[in-house]
Amino acid sequence: MKKISIVVPMYNEEAMVDSFLARIKQVIDPLTDYQFEIVAVNDGSRDATLALLISAQKKEPRLKVVNLARNFGHEPAVAAGLHVATGDAVIPIDADLQDPPEIIPEMIQKWQEGYFVVNARRASRKEDSMMKRWTAKKFYDYMQKLSGKIKVPANVGHYRLIDRKVVDEVNLLSETNRVFRVQVPYIGYKTTEVLFARAKREHGKSHYNYRSMFDLAINAIISSSIKPVYWGLKIAIGIGVITGVSSLTELVLFTINLVNSSLLNGINHPLWLLLNVLFFVTTILLFVLGIISIYVGKTFVEAQKRPFYIIEDVVEVQE
Ligand code: UDP
Ligand code: MG
Repeated sequence: MKKISIVVPMYNEEAMVDSFLARIKQVIDPLTDYQFEIVAVNDGSRDATLALLISAQKKEPRLKVVNLARNFGHEPAVAAGLHVATGDAVIPIDADLQDPPEIIPEMIQKWQEGYFVVNARRASRKEDSMMKRWTAKKFYDYMQKLSGKIKVPANVGHYRLIDRKVVDEVNLLSETNRVFRVQVPYIGYKTTEVLFARAKREHGKSHYNYRSMFDLAINAIISSSIKPVYWGLKIAIGIGVITGVSSLTELVLFTINLVNSSLLNGINHPLWLLLNVLFFVTTILLFVLGIISIYVGKTFVEAQKRPFYIIEDVVEVQE
């Protein structure tokens, strides 16, 4: 009998623990051809999440509780769950039921048809704000341009089914700066998708704000492309050409003595022009320096080779 692991990271999800488990049970209990385990990763919650999980084990012996030593974050929590999961296929899912468990049978179906990765893709972003929709679209467009041969599918988050082969490959990736939605397409394998409509969070509140969305976008780009480093060079060439042309023009104008003519006088005080050009160039330089600094910073983090999560204990019901 094939085994499927459901991996769910939980950070301060006391309001969701019971309803999440109930919804999951509804979906997996009828699937009697498969064995299931639910790997709940308590990511250093400061509320009753851990206690609720432990007590839920009495009624749900398939529930494994991975307790992290502190709050590490969404990505590391999923990574911890992937390492502990023993299934022939693994399905990471959010605890807030924004990812509908009802599509799990369809995902399993596609897996049985021979797909190694079954992405759950949001069919629409109607329920998001205009701003979030716009930033998400821009993000996926840029990702597509920057990531080259890695095809990062738009509107696919953590929720997907991945075969054991792919899980093992993801577990071998050693980077601290983990972005699961980039790692899976990096590895490859025959991939398909299942569409779904994303619901609103049932209880509790989102742990992502615009700042963490920005950080995620930066991490995703940095972890999949070094193209931004070349932007500096390209911008430098651009400025070089403009400066060359303008110096030449100035030289010509100067020689034919037009500089003092009524045409240019009074339109722009040369000092302001000079200041503007200086600010412009400085801005570009700082931008380029900023990009390089991000890469240097990330390189430092990777060079430290610290574990990206620490498991305090794994609590299982003994058969
Ligand atoms: N999460 C986590 N650690 C964190 C933040 C979030 O394990 O530091 C979990 C959270 O409990 C949830 C999932 O990651 O199961 C997604 O978080 P959230 O719903 O807040 O994100 P959003 O849906 O807003 O992107
Ligand atoms: Mg959510």
